[in-house]
Amino acid sequence: MVTFYRRLPKFDYVKPGSMDEVLKLLARGTNGNFKVYAGGTDVVPGLKRRELEKPETLVDLKGIPDLDYIDHDEKAGLRIGALATVRAVAGSSIVNKNFPLLSQAAGRIASNQVQNRGTIAGNICSAVPSADSAPALLCLDSNLVCINEKGERQIGIDGFFKGPNETVLNRDELLREIRIPPMPENSHGVYIKLSPRSRMDLAVVGVAALLGVEKGVIGHIRIGLGAVSPTPMRARDAEDHLCGKKANDAVISEAAQLASEESKPISDHRASAEYRKMMVEVLVKRAIHQALLGVSSK
Ligand SMILES: Cc1cc2nc3c(=O)[nH]c(=O)nc-3n(C[C@H](O)[C@H](O)[C@H](O)COP(=O)(O)OP(=O)(O)OC[C@H]3O[C@@H](n4cnc5c(N)ncnc54)[C@H](O)[C@@H]3O)c2cc1C
Repeated sequence: MVTFYRRLPKFDYVKPGSMDEVLKLLARGTNGNFKVYAGGTDVVPGLKRRELEKPETLVDLKGIPDLDYIDHDEKAGLRIGALATVRAVAGSSIVNKNFPLLSQAAGRIASNQVQNRGTIAGNICSAVPSADSAPALLCLDSNLVCINEKGERQIGIDGFFKGPNETVLNRDELLREIRIPPMPENSHGVYIKLSPRSRMDLAVVGVAALLGVEKGVIGHIRIGLGAVSPTPMRARDAEDHLCGKKANDAVISEAAQLASEESKPISDHRASAEYRKMMVEVLVKRAIHQALLGVSSK
């Protein structure tokens, strides 16, 4: 597929210096006249390819102070500010130690250059079905703190994605913070990305699995899938099949098959729907085996 990049269209540009200023601006706006951006690694190419509708004004969020943070507390878990870059998350020793699944997923996004500009918040707000951080954040039961001029609300990431490039965020709302509760006891998570090239390519299939084992039985299981449905999704039938069972090859294979059946991929220039479904089965099986190995080596 040939991608045509053209010059950026003409728009106004503002870089407000505070959250209040941004929220006031957005509250005044009407549909389509303001478009916020953080790293711009999705927005700028989207405007150049004319895939994004041209806004009257592009609102640069990078002028908002104190939004570029990664905080961890043993009891409360992890908090990632809206301006924390992909690189900061992928390279954070705190994230790596406590949420290695997220480190792995962030580390699989694009190249160092893109990671240095792009944010995890932008990755999920783009709501691209193949967003690499999404399956991991789904497995980690993330909560999204969203804010507008009237106040804040928290949205579970499971209810955040509406469709390709569409979230439940209102026009005047921002994602301010991603919250991740502590990992369940004795659990381990794995992210596997299938793409034709090792870097700089979107996932053909992305699979995250997080599981915890108690007395040989799977007590906690989350499976997140990317690039195989209109939104990143949980493979709930597969999860239900595994939960409460002893993990053996037969049960894992059945769960992987269920995950494949509940996925709803499309065919595009990257892969056919049939191939994606087959790869869901292969990768879910692989991810569960790797997660079990991770638990047993703890
Ligand atoms: C060459 C290249 C390779 C790439 N490879 C990958 C890849 O392998 N895997 C992958 O997942 N992605 C990839 N991407 C996509 C992109 O880099 C990531 O999605 C990145 O994390 C987006 O973050 P950003 O801050 O640049 O988002 P932006 O471009 O700034 O914004 C993205 C969207 O989110 C909205 N937004 C941003 N911040 C907020 C906020 N706080 N509140 C509300 N809305 C917000 C914007 O309005 C926009 O709709 C690639 C991009 C490029 C250019």
